Amino acid sequence: MLSIVSTPIGNLGDLTLRALKTLKECDAIVCEDTRVTGKLLHMLDLPKKELISFHSYSDKKKLTHILERLESGEHLALVSDAGTPCISDPGYQLVSQLSVNHCPFSIVPGPSAFLAALSASGLPINQFIYLGFLPLKKGRKTLLESLKEEKRTIVFYESVHRMKKTMSELADALREQPHRPVVICRELTKMHEEVLRTTITELPHITFTQKGEFVVVIGAM
Ligand code: SAM
Repeated sequence: MLSIVSTPIGNLGDLTLRALKTLKECDAIVCEDTRVTGKLLHMLDLPKKELISFHSYSDKKKLTHILERLESGEHLALVSDAGTPCISDPGYQLVSQLSVNHCPFSIVPGPSAFLAALSASGLPINQFIYLGFLPLKKGRKTLLESLKEEKRTIVFYESVHRMKKTMSELADALREQPHRPVVICRELTKMHEEVLRTTITELPHITFTQKGEFVVVIGAM
């Protein structure tokens, strides 16, 4: 069986009881970075366990190997470095093969950065659109321009190094909607958590520290 296990996005206390039990009981853990997951096990005081690295660029052989182990009856847990596997993280190819190979699975839900940001945003979230990371080149301008017409709340991830540039480009693309609300969430659940409520017109004037992880939420007009 494969258990798809969410892990904390910064605060260890957010690991669920089911996640803890699963990580304790499984035969091995399929993870993104073995060092990160090894550190998590150590912090949770869990015994060392076999860690199998699996990325979106892992070769087919690796995927076949994991599927064979599942078919032989092993209980594997799938985790990512933080948050929920497959959400802008590896795991999708593995999960998509489970039904083809008739492998049972269970989901152990928990933290995800975009959900935490939406909850913290104070914006209407009965409907929202998740964009993951914005494209770096091809389709970037078109996507940013298209946000003018989007009526649902928008949420996306951005790396610290691109925050300034992306916020300037966003302000430019949505310049006709200067009062549109934007919520910038940084380091959610961590010691230096910040939630900044602002507007499109203010974006080019914000100074960003060169540290931390960001989620951006944009409200409707
Ligand atoms: N699978 C993860 C999830 O469920 O949230 C997301 C993985 S994605 C590769 C990592 C991105 O999530 C970061 O670059 C950042 O944009 C966002 N992120 C992760 N942890 C965060 C946190 N504590 N605060 C704000 N953003 C975070």
